[in-house]
Amino acid sequence: MRKLAAGNWKMNGTTGSLAEAMAVAAAHPDAAVELLICPPATLITAMATAATGTPLEVGGQDCHAAASGAHTGDISAAMLSDAGASYVILGHSERRTDHGETDALVRAKTEAAWAAGLTAIVCVGETLAERDAGRTLEVVGRQLDGSVPNGASGARLVIAYEPVWAIGTGKVPTTGQIAEVHDFLRARLDARFGEGVGRLVRLLYGGSVKPSNAAEIFAIRNVDGALVGGASLKAAEFSGIIAALEDSVG
Ligand code: PEP
Repeated sequence: MRKLAAGNWKMNGTTGSLAEAMAVAAAHPDAAVELLICPPATLITAMATAATGTPLEVGGQDCHAAASGAHTGDISAAMLSDAGASYVILGHSERRTDHGETDALVRAKTEAAWAAGLTAIVCVGETLAERDAGRTLEVVGRQLDGSVPNGASGARLVIAYEPVWAIGTGKVPTTGQIAEVHDFLRARLDARFGEGVGRLVRLLYGGSVKPSNAAEIFAIRNVDGALVGGASLKAAEFSGIIAALEDSVG
């Protein structure tokens, strides 16, 4: 299994921002880990074209569950693939909150992503109220079961554990809290899909990852990389995180 450093640019970036992505690619020409940036959809083709011949891969941040049709403003998985994406983030907490996305919808989107040949990064994570109520494992377990379709494999599924309260806040769970959730997710995947599949699904941690805390996070068992928001926008910061992930694989 190759570890994965994934950047989520969210609704940030115009053509001028491509230089940051290219600087990341240039800094890791022989990357020992997989490198991915998910820019806004408007930049996918330009980034994928510019990244040709480098280790940098490009992904989308969402797709529609349908293959095509009357869905103004939406983008299908096949369109992402056609634009040059190989991954798509699905069920990010901002989509779940801003657009009311349910586990069932995320599951349908994941099926659409797989049908188009994309690898889905399915996000799960509890709110602070849910953690304080002792419901973290119940919540992420329900999200995992409901959002992941049958037929998962290590090649087409990545899970990102992103505590909602850690996204963009500078707050990070303790290493023990991250380990508890990642161990739980691994066991749940093993139980559903068999260990031969479960151990190959990469489990990313996401939420305020920075160069200064990356090494500690990547040393945690069952953490196979990171989904990085704010720190992926600047090449120097994302490169520092990638370097820490490369160090963790020796
Ligand atoms: C994210 O939104 O996927 C994320 C992890 O954001 P940040 O790194 O900025 O907390």
